[in-house]
Amino acid sequence: MMSSGSGISKNTGRSLPTQDVSFKVTNFASAQKQINNFQDATVGANRSNIGGFGFGARAFSGRRSFALAAIPKWAEGEWSDEIKARKFMVGGNWKSNGDFDFANKFPQDVLGKANFDTELLDVTAAPTYIHLATVQQKLKGKKVEVCAQDVSEFGAGAYTGNITAEQLADMGVKWTLTGHSERRTLFGETDEITAIKTKAAIEQGLDVLLCIGEVKEERESGVTDDVNARQLKAVADVLSEEQWGNIVIAYEPVWAIGTGLVATPEQAQETQYNIRCWLAKNISPKVAAATRILYGGSANAENAPELIGQKDIDGFLVGGASLKPDYLDIIKAVNDEKKKQM
Ligand code: PEP
Repeated sequence: MMSSGSGISKNTGRSLPTQDVSFKVTNFASAQKQINNFQDATVGANRSNIGGFGFGARAFSGRRSFALAAIPKWAEGEWSDEIKARKFMVGGNWKSNGDFDFANKFPQDVLGKANFDTELLDVTAAPTYIHLATVQQKLKGKKVEVCAQDVSEFGAGAYTGNITAEQLADMGVKWTLTGHSERRTLFGETDEITAIKTKAAIEQGLDVLLCIGEVKEERESGVTDDVNARQLKAVADVLSEEQWGNIVIAYEPVWAIGTGLVATPEQAQETQYNIRCWLAKNISPKVAAATRILYGGSANAENAPELIGQKDIDGFLVGGASLKPDYLDIIKAVNDEKKKQM
């Protein structure tokens, strides 16, 4: 017997409207997998038949037991085990900081000492363009990779001051940021420009840390998810589904960047979960399951361990703390959490 006509989201506690869910008779194991892998699936079956959550399968091994899973229609399909397979990531953004001496010493003194499993974690550092080659050289043979902070929306030609995706690729740079809030708010980069830059980078073989996020007034007026959706849609409009494989999303509430005001784990989790739902609905469940979503905004060695314990936080984009030895503690926290999950 079904206990209710709607599914209750374990993440948000909100009800899913009946018309948005389909009820499926399934065996206990797959219902449980759906619950584990996708938080908006819930079991509405007579629990005495399945022996409760979690342990029922073992309790009833050898017997056929059924569950009724309420799955949002748009999320049907393969969320699969990719959640476990998502590699974590820590990206450092130096912004316009650091001189030649720092660019020479920090990679050796700090980044080169980062101790993490490259199977589980990507770690990058993004110096200014003028220090990119130096840092890259110093990191040769180390686990940390360099990342550009931005990329031109144009190709080669008369675009004074711009660095093209082709030039970055030619230097062996594998990563770039796009859409950082400082590019958007201080330099007037629109969602569309960010999207073109993102596509230009991917087409030259780079992986992109695509930054999105709301300003304080947007959070306060309750439109955070709409802002993220708008920023993502501009990118979705120019990318193929396959190209999402080269994207890591960095959710960075603008009010938390450089302010010391970190989002609570609940705020970050809820927003990042909603980003994943947007991907499922608008790109595909497969892309939603596979895409890494980092949190950025005053992340540091103290708050990283709790934040990284959230289901939809796959790492961090770090500004200020990436210029200090603390960066190693953040990397350690993320590496430890990923190891725990495996
Ligand atoms: C950033 O620059 O992307 C950032 C998150 O900065 P901070 O960690 O200093 O808030």
